[in-house]
Amino acid sequence: MPQNLNMFSLEGKTALVTGANTGLGQGICAAYAGAGANVIGVARRSCQETADKITAIGGNFTELIADLSDINVIPHIVEEAGKAYGRVDILVNNAGIIKRCDAVDVTMEDWDAVINLNEKMVFFLSQAFAKGWAADNKGGKIINIASMLSYQGGIRVPSYTASKSAVMGLTRALANEWARYNINVNAIAPGYMATNNTQNLRSDEQRSDEILSRIPAGRWGTPEDITGAAIFLASDAAAYVHGFTLAVDGGWLAR
Ligand code: NAP
Repeated sequence: MPQNLNMFSLEGKTALVTGANTGLGQGICAAYAGAGANVIGVARRSCQETADKITAIGGNFTELIADLSDINVIPHIVEEAGKAYGRVDILVNNAGIIKRCDAVDVTMEDWDAVINLNEKMVFFLSQAFAKGWAADNKGGKIINIASMLSYQGGIRVPSYTASKSAVMGLTRALANEWARYNINVNAIAPGYMATNNTQNLRSDEQRSDEILSRIPAGRWGTPEDITGAAIFLASDAAAYVHGFTLAVDGGWLAR
């Protein structure tokens, strides 16, 4: 690797990525392994497809099965992650759900499900790793996956908008407290990406056309599209980047 690109290398680092079995999480896992990191993928189902992609490029991957809807699972995650490769250096809070429903019909059950995973887990999992990082003084990287709905209201997804707006706020709040420990807390706000998350939207021809016509790049994003930003924010190259949410959105927010 040319000398000036070494700063982007994740060689010798260990990354823990939630929601690692599919979509953006899977893309980030593969990219981190390609950049040299050991990767721990947390998911509530098998990550075999992710493992196969990483094995194919000679990388290291460990699967950690956990349901992230309840924060009581956090001690188990921290303990098992430590057993895999020793110290975790990078945490990617990627797992997230969306419930589409008119605001007047949203149930408390659906509201709690979205907030518990997209917001509460993001905070308490970050807290769990940051505690260790602040204590050993070796720093760490947290990358939260935000959304266009960290900036905008959206339509028929009020719980998701609330959670993703909180993710951008938390990214700033935690950076303010933890930058002094060399912990970089940043976020990526993906635009409209072709994953399970947007399956219903893409199946609705009218909504799909509306969205596509508004994206300056003229296409849905892919998991690969966010990997450059994910590697950057996890690497030494981002040492002085704190509390920022980087949009990878085909220009959506520029409109
Ligand atoms: P996805 O394919 O639906 O991936 C979501 C991931 O979260 C899956 O691995 C899913 O596992 C996992 N997950 C959901 N509930 C879980 C639970 N209780 N415990 C453990 N894991 C759980 O969608 P994606 O697009 O890759 O989403 C990744 C992140 O990007 C999410 O935070 C999403 O909000 C965000 N995002 C996506 C877009 C987009 O356009 N796609 C745009 C902005 C932000 P299962 O497969 O088991 O459900």
